[in-house]
Amino acid sequence: MKPHAHEPPPAPLRAVATEARHDSGPLRDSFGRLIRNLRISITDRCNFRCTYCMPEEGLDWLANDAILTIDEIERLTRVFVSLGVEEVRLTGGEPTLRRDLPEIVARLAPLGATGLRSLSLTTNGILLPRLTPALAAAGLTRINVSLDTLDQKRFWQVTRRDALDQVMAGLEALEAYPTISPIKVNAVAVRGFTREEDIVALAGLARRKPYVMRFIEFMPLDAEGNWDTDQVLPGDEIRTIIHARWPLDVLAGQDPSSTAVTYRFSDGAGEVGFINPVTHPFCRACDRIRLTADGQLRTCLFSIDETDLKSPMRAGADDLELERLIRRAVWSKEQKHQINEGEAFQRASRSMSQIGG
Ligand code: SAM
Ligand code: SF4
Repeated sequence: MKPHAHEPPPAPLRAVATEARHDSGPLRDSFGRLIRNLRISITDRCNFRCTYCMPEEGLDWLANDAILTIDEIERLTRVFVSLGVEEVRLTGGEPTLRRDLPEIVARLAPLGATGLRSLSLTTNGILLPRLTPALAAAGLTRINVSLDTLDQKRFWQVTRRDALDQVMAGLEALEAYPTISPIKVNAVAVRGFTREEDIVALAGLARRKPYVMRFIEFMPLDAEGNWDTDQVLPGDEIRTIIHARWPLDVLAGQDPSSTAVTYRFSDGAGEVGFINPVTHPFCRACDRIRLTADGQLRTCLFSIDETDLKSPMRAGADDLELERLIRRAVWSKEQKHQINEGEAFQRASRSMSQIGG
């Protein structure tokens, strides 16, 4: 029904709610989603060159002084945790390339006393054989290791590095530290590359090792802009392949904000999960935000806009001012990605390794 000519148009719900909702209490966006999960990229550099992520020659890396220092990371994380963030994941680029990674973990771990429940790392795993003891001692609680194939030659084809043995040794090293749990192994599946043999071998790894295997659909976040819907290998197809070999049952009582739907092997031999952002978007329950290595807050992987936290912080902003900037940005979090909306879809303003996946 149209408003009468003499009546002002009804204020959008969003604007009315803004004053009431986004100045206090836990971080919440204008769609009512609570924000509990922060991914912090600590570097945009990488020692791999995964074909679905970045070109062989690498990217234009950020200058050292553009990257958040350990003090800045600690301070911002403290502010985020005070606003209700419960899970922090360190990522990159390749986060293990930062020499101060164990110290970053050690500085963030005490935030457990103020509400941080999980402090995790996403890594390509190559440096884990050396770093695992220090990361465990520093207080890391969870880990995701990226691994797309168990075949040496195909590993080289995807990552452009001959490092499968080091990654496998890194996974083994983690097994000695039960405080880092679960150990998750993430594989990006790309149609045209990922074969049935890769899928079965990776699922087999989850059966013989204490790792939770997860398959991720390829998203349009590659630096070269080559993504095409034809390259998406739907998680449902992968599940069908695994189920035919080793029957799967969906796990009961899963966290609705989780990106993955997890299944257990019917014979109890382990778990495998499917992260299907393209074929089954989970934006409705999204509780994630991201901080880039250069201190920009992104409220969606596919954000076009970012909120600069680094410049105000370096210009002397106090915690209250940072909180205000964070609350305002989070309030404007995107409703959903538009990968499946044809022309409406706009690529994100940065690629996956520059955002922090
Ligand atoms: N270098 C670390 C690693 O590879 O685990 C952390 C950063 S990497 C960008 C984080 C995750 O994003 C990895 O699991 C990687 O496989 C995944 N990824 C990269 N590009 C992707 C894309 N276009 N679509 C889906 N996942 C992608
Ligand atoms: Fe590096 Fe991770 Fe991207 Fe591979 S996926 S190139 S390891 S940032």
